[in-house]
Amino acid sequence: MYRPKSMKAEEFIDHEEVLATLQYAEENKDNLELIDQIIAKAKLRKGLNHREASVLLACENPEKIAELYELARQIKIDFYGNRIVMFAPLYLSNYCVNSCVYCPYHRQNKQIPRIKLTQEQIRNEVIALQDMGHKRLAIEAGEDPVNNPIAYILESIKTIYSIQHKNGAIRRVNVNIAATTVENYRKLKEAGIGTYILFQETYHKESYETLHPAGPKHDYAYHTEAMDRAMEGGIDDVGLGVLFGLEMYRYEFAALLMHAEHLEAVHGVGPHTISVPRIKRADDIDPSAFDNGIDDDTFAKICALIRVCVPYTGMIISTRESQQVREKVLPLGVSQISGASRTSVGGYCESVRPHESEQFDVSDNRTLDEVVRWLMEMGYIPSFCTACYREGRTGDRFMNLCKSGQIQNCCHPNALLTLKEFLIDYASPETKAIGEAMIVSQLEHIPNEKARALCAQHLHSIEEGKRDFRF
Ligand code: SAM
Repeated sequence: MYRPKSMKAEEFIDHEEVLATLQYAEENKDNLELIDQIIAKAKLRKGLNHREASVLLACENPEKIAELYELARQIKIDFYGNRIVMFAPLYLSNYCVNSCVYCPYHRQNKQIPRIKLTQEQIRNEVIALQDMGHKRLAIEAGEDPVNNPIAYILESIKTIYSIQHKNGAIRRVNVNIAATTVENYRKLKEAGIGTYILFQETYHKESYETLHPAGPKHDYAYHTEAMDRAMEGGIDDVGLGVLFGLEMYRYEFAALLMHAEHLEAVHGVGPHTISVPRIKRADDIDPSAFDNGIDDDTFAKICALIRVCVPYTGMIISTRESQQVREKVLPLGVSQISGASRTSVGGYCESVRPHESEQFDVSDNRTLDEVVRWLMEMGYIPSFCTACYREGRTGDRFMNLCKSGQIQNCCHPNALLTLKEFLIDYASPETKAIGEAMIVSQLEHIPNEKARALCAQHLHSIEEGKRDFRF
């Protein structure tokens, strides 16, 4: 089997291997015997490699696709239960020296207002987010060594963690900033970040260079090897993603799995999350200018395949997707969604939207309360838990917990407890009524008796106003 051991981007994302994979997939897309073997292997829940996965992606047989969807649903339930973790992005600065042709923050864009939040403004944004009920943020910034140096990012993280407003607190800050050095990753680790997220945008080197014509992000190898540097700097939770629409999705999908295989082979731990953003309209960006947009059915198939191929990796869907699309893909394996997001700098303190500094249009404009209620109406438990980070259960330790199934006795209670906090502190009466009933019924689903009793006790303490727990 192909086992990537090299630390060089062009070797672990070997273009020839991707092309050979696509050819193999094309040749075998109607080979039902092989497809059955691959599905049987997937049912062992140990994942699939990029070649096997690519055959399933190419397969158009409706029965086999239905089988794949069913398996994805089952793995989602068995590994993640019915919990959906909530988060929101926080844009710190849109100053950027890059020239990404799909992003309105590119340096040639002179019409977009450039904003960099002061620590006081960050404080106000965080209070607005806490007042909605958010506990987990993903901070976002353009790449600009002068305006957004690592010191600014670190200071902002410190500010975010320091704000305690009413019962609110941000307990996990994930970071989505440009590829950087091992030294800077070490500093981010020391600042107590959760996941380091960096989208590859495209794995196709030639397209990558065309889509990033200038600026530090132009360097394909430096960008693609970022996760290795992050892991060298001590960050064991990394989040991958490609921006679907830029390149051929089958190429991206095979390469994305090769990247995950590489991390697992070299560092002993695969990606903590995979995001599946699709390109959206933005200030001076027209998504139809990109030829490789994928329809909703293909998008759903990719989500189901990710769930089956890397069962231990969380999957994130942002508000780039509409309520309708989110409903379609949630059961196929999504574990984390954003709610009430603003993609502008300072957007949470602005009452009007759209805001002119938005990075892209969002398709789900509902409030967090509405998103939470909608999830519960569909039978999902919205979770504000951040315990994986708080208790040090990150990286390989998290994977082991997930692999052993213990997570059900741990994540399920934490989801209920953090939901309880949300209901008391932030929910509307309708949401609260649905949530309280859900907590009562879901308590029964904690398999371990001791864990169930402890959860009931903690729920009671929260009801009585005690907030000294660490989730
Ligand atoms: N500047 C950092 C970097 O280069 O990685 C931070 C990332 S940016 C704030 C977050 C992500 O938004 C990008 O990685 C890109 O995939 C995505 N993005 C940019 N323009 C977009 C658009 N028009 N539609 C959807 N997503 C977009």
